[in-house]
Amino acid sequence: MNTILKNPLGGNLKDAQIKKIEGFVRGFKLSSLTYKRIMQLLHEEMNSGLSKTTNHMADIKMFPTFVRSLPDGTEKGKYLALDLGGTNFRVLMVELNGKDVDIQSKTYLIPQRIMLGTGTQLFDHIADCICKFVNTHDIMGEKLPLGFTFSFPCKQEGLATARLSKWTKGFRCEGVVGEDLCILLHEALKRKGNIDVEVVAIINDAVGTLMSTAHSDRNCEIGLILGTGCNACYMENLEHVGLWDGEIRNPKQVIVNTEWGAFGDNGCLDFIRTEYDRELDTFSINPGKQILEKMISGMYMGEIVRLVLERLTMEGLLFSGVDRECELFVRGRFYTKYVSEIESDHDEFFRNTKQALDELGLEGYSSEDCKIVKYVCTLISARAAFLSAAGLATLINKINKPNMTIAVDGSLYRFHPRFHNLMCLKMKELVRPGLKFQLQLSHDGSGKGAALVAAVATRLRDSKEISVDC
Ligand code: ADP
Ligand code: MG
Repeated sequence: MNTILKNPLGGNLKDAQIKKIEGFVRGFKLSSLTYKRIMQLLHEEMNSGLSKTTNHMADIKMFPTFVRSLPDGTEKGKYLALDLGGTNFRVLMVELNGKDVDIQSKTYLIPQRIMLGTGTQLFDHIADCICKFVNTHDIMGEKLPLGFTFSFPCKQEGLATARLSKWTKGFRCEGVVGEDLCILLHEALKRKGNIDVEVVAIINDAVGTLMSTAHSDRNCEIGLILGTGCNACYMENLEHVGLWDGEIRNPKQVIVNTEWGAFGDNGCLDFIRTEYDRELDTFSINPGKQILEKMISGMYMGEIVRLVLERLTMEGLLFSGVDRECELFVRGRFYTKYVSEIESDHDEFFRNTKQALDELGLEGYSSEDCKIVKYVCTLISARAAFLSAAGLATLINKINKPNMTIAVDGSLYRFHPRFHNLMCLKMKELVRPGLKFQLQLSHDGSGKGAALVAAVATRLRDSKEISVDC
């Protein structure tokens, strides 16, 4: 057993109680051999997604993105960027001047009725936000190139042509699957009547994150998202991309958006799924879909913890005498940010843990209860970090370059106190000896990245280099 998972419950807890608790959480502790098996399966699934003959059956779609050139630091100009990630929607104005980047941004809420409404409502809302932003930033009348970070699985037909292949995370807007997002955005802006933009690129957040870090680090080959969802992209040689039917001149490479959150949708990860993973999936808006993502990302991690705590409580192992009306028993009520906060408690006072439990309406809990809650959090976040590490190790071994930077963005990675260290620890074990890597937090990956893709596209188009297929 990995020592990092040894978070002794000990103290005043009785051995019999500890044993019983262990019985309910055992499934989160996976051996190194299991992680290696997962890597092998993931590698096979990725190859299946890359091949033209098997892609239609593959869960991991390995979408070529049409982004083939990385920024070279000479990008200049003012760009608009949109970032629709799953939890936040932001409009940004990004001014590039060589390595200097000035970003102004505003975050807008997407209400749940819009996330589950119609496509027209969603795009009208987006157009409204753009209008408000343009008005308050005094750029009305300037036709700025726009990069759109749209972080849902899309089939790209060009740099600025992307069709949604399915909704994920909390979204399910009618009438968008299969549609060209650029057209939907332009139509919504036309309905608003008074705003003119030129969408030059649609990318996802993993690509934006890679681009953003590549701006200052030439070794950056992989982009990883650990936010509402979980996804990764990497730079691949064109000869390995069976689906590529664009031009094949230099650079003979393209960023592939793996959409690996769907790994396991065909049942191949069933051997590691716990009863809690299954229950979470059953009550999600997309049962059977995004199986890997549901074991890792910020949208789900808190709920997995809640399901375990609920089970332990029902079994009489936690929170004795708890009021069954309290919010611990409400689906979705245990936020993933609590996991970060709880794991930041390092002494017997459990200040953060108590605050989270208070917010859930729990009363009369003991220090032993706090200890168990923290233990459950550490197990579930460690599994998520180790699964992410196994995914990255698979990519690193596949790319097989001596020194690689992985750009990472997303609130889970950013704020969880141990995620980075846990990932590095597991990756050291799983990455082929001799290959060096570093995980680099990408500041404002998706926003800056979208502007950079727009800038690179504009630069290449203006200089008539035909390296970006738009
Ligand atoms: P997006 O996915 O829209 O780009 P973020 O990267 O901010 O947005 O990720 C949002 C997700 O991160 C949410 O699911 C939320 O539960 C989770 N999250 C927010 N704050 C924290 C935190 N402090 N620790 C861990 N997860 C967090
Ligand atoms: Mg984001």
